[in-house]
Amino acid sequence: MGTTIPCDLAIVGGGLAGGLIALALKAKRPDLDIRIVEAGASLGGDHVWSFFGSDVVEGDRWLVAPLVVHGWRGYDVAFPHLSRDVDATYYSLTSERFDAVVRGALPADAVMLGRKVLAASATAVVLADGDRVEAKGVIDARGPGDLSTLDLGWQKFVGQELALAAPHGIDRPRVMDATVEQIDGYRFIYCLPFGERRMFVEDTYYSDTPDLDGAAIGVRIADYARARGWDVTGVVRGEAGVLPITLGGDFDAYWRSTGGGIAKAGMRAGLFQPATGYSLPDAVRLAVRLAAESDLSGAALARFTHDYARAAWKRGAFYRMLGAMMFRAGEPAERWRIIERFYRLDPMLITRFYAGRSSLKDKARILTGKPPVPVGRAIRVLRTTAWR
Ligand SMILES: Cc1cc2nc3c(=O)[nH]c(=O)nc-3n(C[C@H](O)[C@H](O)[C@H](O)COP(=O)(O)OP(=O)(O)OC[C@H]3O[C@@H](n4cnc5c(N)ncnc54)[C@H](O)[C@@H]3O)c2cc1C
Repeated sequence: MGTTIPCDLAIVGGGLAGGLIALALKAKRPDLDIRIVEAGASLGGDHVWSFFGSDVVEGDRWLVAPLVVHGWRGYDVAFPHLSRDVDATYYSLTSERFDAVVRGALPADAVMLGRKVLAASATAVVLADGDRVEAKGVIDARGPGDLSTLDLGWQKFVGQELALAAPHGIDRPRVMDATVEQIDGYRFIYCLPFGERRMFVEDTYYSDTPDLDGAAIGVRIADYARARGWDVTGVVRGEAGVLPITLGGDFDAYWRSTGGGIAKAGMRAGLFQPATGYSLPDAVRLAVRLAAESDLSGAALARFTHDYARAAWKRGAFYRMLGAMMFRAGEPAERWRIIERFYRLDPMLITRFYAGRSSLKDKARILTGKPPVPVGRAIRVLRTTAWR
């Protein structure tokens, strides 16, 4: 017979979205008795998460500031016919810091690690070990729901933190180096200088398929490092990701795929940028909003998060339409041209694009000029893809 644990709010899944909600509630509603239930041995898995400073509005920065491990002013991009410096801030967090900060903010019994959840409802959580959490409200943040309800392309990557024999002399991220050989769709390398002899190098593909050949990509990363003149003495850590790029789909079916009556956050709520698969900016916004809600009962939370995610899905239509054009109307080997063209635009427009806050004028600007894909195919894709 298991134990029943009562509390005010249970967060299921201690990843990025769940951890941020716990942190925001602890800061704004310290009176609440919360539990965060995570299957893994630590909070936040084993990632580097990055974001542009402008992805998080000033009023929300307090939440993410203690989690930042690296920050830079300025980044650059390189394409076959374009090299550009962009004046913007860029930040990275690590899971290690995330785990330490979230755990440090909460009482020890609020963080339930190594506890797999079998089922969750708006007011109860059933654990695999027989225990049960009964809460006034529950938020499910267990990562993606049923992605087959969506029409997807993929952003997939392998990242390695490389130790170098000598200082690399680089002081800013290169968020896209698309001068590399184009393989499996749009390929670029992403480099973050983590220290004077440390470089985080990620080989990324905007691909039609989610399969990832880790060994082959490892060789390509080594080749890239050699070509940049870096003498690699070791790989300090590695990560891999396969993120959904949303071209269309049925939001309601996605939401229902993980149960209709329960509140959700993060990828589970469909809260990721359609064009990048990134979820940090949305996760910060939702956590701050939730911490300001007065009614945190299960039914109210379910309603609130559903309406919030539905509105975000609606706002994402423009990005899904661009994704559909890129993945369905253009040739995979020519995708880099679309991104190169995009990077010729006003830096503020680029910034708003990544934040998912493009203005009407931005949208018009992105769509004007000679289309980088065949017009006939573009019209067909617009008609046949459920991007709205
Ligand atoms: C390698 C990698 C790098 C990424 N980099 C970025 C980036 O730079 N910027 C960005 O914005 N996005 C990035 N993303 C995309 C996205 O932001 C992350 O995937 C993010 O972690 C999603 O947050 P989440 O909370 O929805 O899910 P997760 O962070 O995956 O959290 C879900 C949590 O639920 C737990 N869980 C699942 N099932 C159960 C269960 N049954 N019982 C208990 N716990 C359970 C999991 O163990 C996990 O900890 C990256 C993704 C990957 C994989």
